[in-house]
Amino acid sequence: MNVVSLRAGWSRLPLRAAAFVVLTCVAILGVSGWREWAARDQVLRGAETEMANVARSLTQHAEDSLDLLDSGVVGVVSRLEMDGTDPSTIAKLGNVLDARKKAVARIHSLAIIDDRGNWLTSPGAIASTFSDDMFFRHHQLSPKREAFVGHPVKSLLDGQSVVTLSRRFNKPDGSFGGVVLATISAGYLSHFYEQFEIGRNSSIALVHGDGLIIARNPNNERFVGRSVGDGPLFRDPSLQRPSGAYHFKSPLDGVQRVSFFKRSSSYPLVVLATVDKDELLAPWRAAAISRMLHVLALVMLIAIIGAVLVRQLQRGQRMAAALIEKEAYFRLLAEGSSDMVTRIGLDERLRYVSPSSNRVVGWRPNQLIGTEALAGIHPEDRPHVQTIIDAMKRGDMEEARVTYRNVHRQKSEVWLESTMRVTRKENGTVDGVVAISRDITEQKNLETRLETLAIEDSLTGLANRRRFDERLKEEWARAYRDRSSLGLLMIDVDHFKAYNDEYGHPAGDACLRVVAKTIAAEVQRGGDLAARYGGEEFAMLLPNTDAAGCARLGERIRNAIRDAGLVHASNPAGPCVTVSVGGATCRPAVERTAGTSSLVEAADRALYAAKDAGRDRLMMSGEVMNLLPRASGQ
Ligand code: GH3
Ligand code: MG
Ligand code: MG
Repeated sequence: MNVVSLRAGWSRLPLRAAAFVVLTCVAILGVSGWREWAARDQVLRGAETEMANVARSLTQHAEDSLDLLDSGVVGVVSRLEMDGTDPSTIAKLGNVLDARKKAVARIHSLAIIDDRGNWLTSPGAIASTFSDDMFFRHHQLSPKREAFVGHPVKSLLDGQSVVTLSRRFNKPDGSFGGVVLATISAGYLSHFYEQFEIGRNSSIALVHGDGLIIARNPNNERFVGRSVGDGPLFRDPSLQRPSGAYHFKSPLDGVQRVSFFKRSSSYPLVVLATVDKDELLAPWRAAAISRMLHVLALVMLIAIIGAVLVRQLQRGQRMAAALIEKEAYFRLLAEGSSDMVTRIGLDERLRYVSPSSNRVVGWRPNQLIGTEALAGIHPEDRPHVQTIIDAMKRGDMEEARVTYRNVHRQKSEVWLESTMRVTRKENGTVDGVVAISRDITEQKNLETRLETLAIEDSLTGLANRRRFDERLKEEWARAYRDRSSLGLLMIDVDHFKAYNDEYGHPAGDACLRVVAKTIAAEVQRGGDLAARYGGEEFAMLLPNTDAAGCARLGERIRNAIRDAGLVHASNPAGPCVTVSVGGATCRPAVERTAGTSSLVEAADRALYAAKDAGRDRLMMSGEVMNLLPRASGQ
């Protein structure tokens, strides 16, 4: 996966996370809402069942009541048809009816009406006719013998609203003889309905088949006789069934209501129980609101946590992008550099190596990554580098520059200069070291060369005069400290001018090189120093050497040069190149001599004494003293 597609995938991540959080919230709200709605449905269904039971039992009650009335009416009708309507029969029946009315509380009245609508059993005070009443006209016109339930009417006895049940009786010739009427009080029914607690804003009504209200609780008196024939129960074709429920908005108060109805199978009656939907659903609504508030709180919590997480994700992403960019810059710099860039982990293994490693140490990065970072360092230099790395890992040192020798795959060894710097995690703890190393072998060689040039004589390869002077001072100080003896030999080629004249200057140079080589070959101890003092004059510094040792070595040198057999025809001292040697020793701590110059002067004097004495000889400084009086005496 490349960086671009990786970034594209990343940038969509917070969006996806946010979408997930939103989806989760919506899902929780959706599921909770759906559950609450199902609970509401359940409440309504429960009420439906309950109200259906109420309606069924009230219908049954109405039917039983009318059956009770009818049983009395049927008996009277058969007696009238058998015995006729003469006053004595009527009077007897009147007594029977009175007794029955008293026995059955729900019967409001029982009456026999003749074919002209006169109330035959009426107490004399009531002189009224039923000839215009609906039930009377029905029986008068219809030969049917069934019981007829009429519209509610006002009782002639006490003015109460009553429901009428009536049957026709015939004269012996089969013509209309009159009507036997039984009534039941609407108040009684309404009172009966009071027992059913169906809610404050609710009602139970007994309705006639054509829509007229027969009895109602509450407010019976106000509603009896009113018609609900315009309502859905009578108009809606889907409700023309034995029982059921329907929802509607009351045209009176605009309140949503649910009505449950049950039609009587034997009479044209419907029981209608109507409840206030709001009241019915109130307990559910209160519980649902409380539950939904909890759910809402939960959703808000999820949304807040989600928002915080999305923001953190965005921040993390920005940081990761910045890190990738930093890494890219690092690689650009590291891989474009001719220096070898390495990253060393806390375990001192190489974590990253730039491609320049191939040039700097001869190995490719993949051959080095994972290996020990200090493995290639020269054993002599390694402790120093290790100390620095340890200090950096501890955090005692932020950066360092160190020069060391390192193995190279092809060349035997290279000099490397590494600039190292500690890297830290975000919390500040050290997590490694970055080193930029360059090959300084050439520079190092040049330095060595310059150093050599500074102290070496270019013709002979011996130490030059500068080096000699430095060493003389050092050895003088050491001899002073150690209370030891310091020896010096001054060696001068005899008649060298003549040699030059004879063989030429280049030959003179060659001769000097041989002489130097011969002198150098006589150096036996590490501290001894052979130097070209100037021209054809050499010096040998001999630390910790007494006069005897000094003289011994001087003699050896003198003999060695003569034995080298460099032809020198014009040398009066012999056929070959010879040298004269002057030696001197001193103990700086014991002898109160002036200093280094006094030793050189003493050796020089001895050298000149040797020259004077005929050359090709050694003369020690002590001997000079002895010789001088003799020399002056000559
Ligand atoms: P003596 O025995 O008294 O030392 O005689 P000498 O000729 O050696 O002494 P002198 O000091 O007169 O001459 C030294 C000569 O050494 C002079 C000079 O030409 C020669 N000389 C000095 N340095 C060099 C050099 O670097 N190369 C050559 N070829 N000759 C040199
Ligand atoms: Mg000389
Ligand atoms: Mg000389």
